[in-house]
Amino acid sequence: MSMFGQVHVKNGQYKIKGDFHELTPNMPIRNSDDGWKLMGVTNPRDMTYIHSYGGESIFFESLSKGKLMATRCDNKKCESKGSIYQPFRIFCPDCLSKMTVIDMTDIAKKTAKIHTFMVCERSGAFNILKRPIKFINIEFDGVCTILMSYLAVGEPEIGMRVVPIFQKLDPTYTILDMAWVPEKTKSNHLPKGFSF
Ligand SMILES: [Zn+2]
Repeated sequence: MSMFGQVHVKNGQYKIKGDFHELTPNMPIRNSDDGWKLMGVTNPRDMTYIHSYGGESIFFESLSKGKLMATRCDNKKCESKGSIYQPFRIFCPDCLSKMTVIDMTDIAKKTAKIHTFMVCERSGAFNILKRPIKFINIEFDGVCTILMSYLAVGEPEIGMRVVPIFQKLDPTYTILDMAWVPEKTKSNHLPKGFSF
């Protein structure tokens, strides 16, 4: 088995190591109703995609440290000056200027509420969340957007107060490092690797 591709940046360039695409031998598809006649082949393909976070890096780095970052437009000339955006976005949708990164962990802990939710019994490919998945849309005081995430413990209800939990042990550096639980959930009820 070869080594999965690894990447780091040096002198402003990607330095890559290992295999980014791997060819696995194909297998015949045969028809058991017709003398095992050849019908086609499977083509297994593994590839490693290099996903750049750019200006959103600070968001994912912060999740791994138990912090939820947002952005705020501080442009004096902007009609929407002072608006806070969660999910994290780099540029103001109204004036297109670069926004200021702020730490909204406390706002989330004190004011997060379920705006609406949906429970999914089935999932798409590569899902690693436990099913049924309780997707929740979360609203925060003073934040003009709604965040999509999932409830890791309990049953969702509209208006329910929730608090964020973070995968600080063994983080994935993806959005899956954050989940939500009902307010007052005990820390020994959190999923493995997660803490407040
Ligand atoms: Zn703006």
